[in-house]
Amino acid sequence: MDLHAKIVATIGPATADPRSLKRLLKAGADAIRINLSHGSGREHRDAVARVRALSAELRLHVPVILDLMGPRYRLGRLEAPRTLRRGQRVVIGAPDTEVDLPVDDVDLLEYLKPGDRFLIGDGLVELKVTKEADLRFVAKVVNGGKVSSRKGINLPDSDMPFAISKKDRSDIKLAVELDVDYIAASYVGTAEDLRALRRLIRRAGGETPLIAKLERARAIEHLDEIVASADAVMVARGDLGVEVPLHRVPVLQKQIIESGRVHAKPVIVATQMLESMMQNPRPTRAESSDVANAVFDGADALMLSGETAAGRYPIEAVKTMSRIIREAEAHRSSTRTRERAVEPIAPANLPRDSSALADVVSAAAVFSTKNLKVRQIVAFSQGGFTARAIARYRPETPICVLTTEPRVARRVQLVWGVRPLLLEAAVEHHDEVVDRVDRELLAAKLVRKGDTIVVLMGVPIRDRPLTNLMRLHRVRGDT
Ligand code: PGA
Ligand code: MN
Repeated sequence: MDLHAKIVATIGPATADPRSLKRLLKAGADAIRINLSHGSGREHRDAVARVRALSAELRLHVPVILDLMGPRYRLGRLEAPRTLRRGQRVVIGAPDTEVDLPVDDVDLLEYLKPGDRFLIGDGLVELKVTKEADLRFVAKVVNGGKVSSRKGINLPDSDMPFAISKKDRSDIKLAVELDVDYIAASYVGTAEDLRALRRLIRRAGGETPLIAKLERARAIEHLDEIVASADAVMVARGDLGVEVPLHRVPVLQKQIIESGRVHAKPVIVATQMLESMMQNPRPTRAESSDVANAVFDGADALMLSGETAAGRYPIEAVKTMSRIIREAEAHRSSTRTRERAVEPIAPANLPRDSSALADVVSAAAVFSTKNLKVRQIVAFSQGGFTARAIARYRPETPICVLTTEPRVARRVQLVWGVRPLLLEAAVEHHDEVVDRVDRELLAAKLVRKGDTIVVLMGVPIRDRPLTNLMRLHRVRGDT
């Protein structure tokens, strides 16, 4: 049986060539992420084309996620790497000035103030700002270490507003032009930040769904509104673990996943899931537990970053993740969220692409599987909301989404337990939907003649309304 939790694999130097990419998809990667912090536009274009070509060849619906660099501040150029020692005082300032640590962008200095922490290189080096004069800052080293040119900076205490860089603007245009399936928004702090990105996507002529990366303390303060206005979210534990104390991350992961369930938005758990596999063919015990626990928490998808982008064992990492997920899902505690009562989404939490009707019908479909032996819950969907509304209940019954839209088939692939099936020809009438469902599901060997299935759709079909009809049906056919 297929896994319910999906695997997102980041591609990079280790997996950019067609052969590795094909092996990655065959090993079980459901979605592909491209990190726009690395590589050129040319490379990203080629990579997307390659994923599209291989998915067609393998008959898979693979969503492509382009991950924006976001307002990422870095150190400027240092003459040579240097080691900072605890207690030492350093001067931080604009590039091209006589300071110990130049920053690459003066804008950052506007928001720095005495008392703030100044973190360098994934938070390993920590400074505390003590004094300011004319945008030159004196800081005291709290945790020492080596610093070098272009190291990333995090300012967890500053209320620096979200900014959309020139690079992000041009990457958004690229994403729309390439018709990718999701844009991941780095370092957003509020729902307004997402709206600003959405306006740019619309201006570029697209409607690409947005994945909000939760990786700033500010975003955690605005968790609910961000999850409500995003199309999906990511527990971006890499930066999150720098911006908030690391001991809070496991609990935040659970809270974010729960918020995703409340709003019917898929949640991706990311970063360092199998980190040691960058070097070794086997993960650590802790990593194996981490992957399984993300499944128990109810994540829709688990992500690999460096492991598949630049590691020595990219294919093994996907296979290992897949094995751990399979075992975890076979275990009862993975069904924790299934034991909740079936209850529709609170009106205030209904996503924009949905309706209360579509949600109630989805809840009814899951409810029906409690008293009937239902083989599949099938949604004939042109938007994708119904898939999320059903998956929200984590039903034991498999979920299948039939659509005539390749984009929808790809997007719903990110959702827990959803199997997309693409219909080649348009459907005009709801009786025809049921015939096509029978044929497609029989051909895919998902059902047998006589099985009971639940079919959801929006009628009248040709007006493409949201889901408003549930039909209990016995599969007809000659197999
Ligand atoms: P990144 O985002 O890999 O783009 O930094 C994920 C994270 O911060 O965890
Ligand atoms: Mn990040």
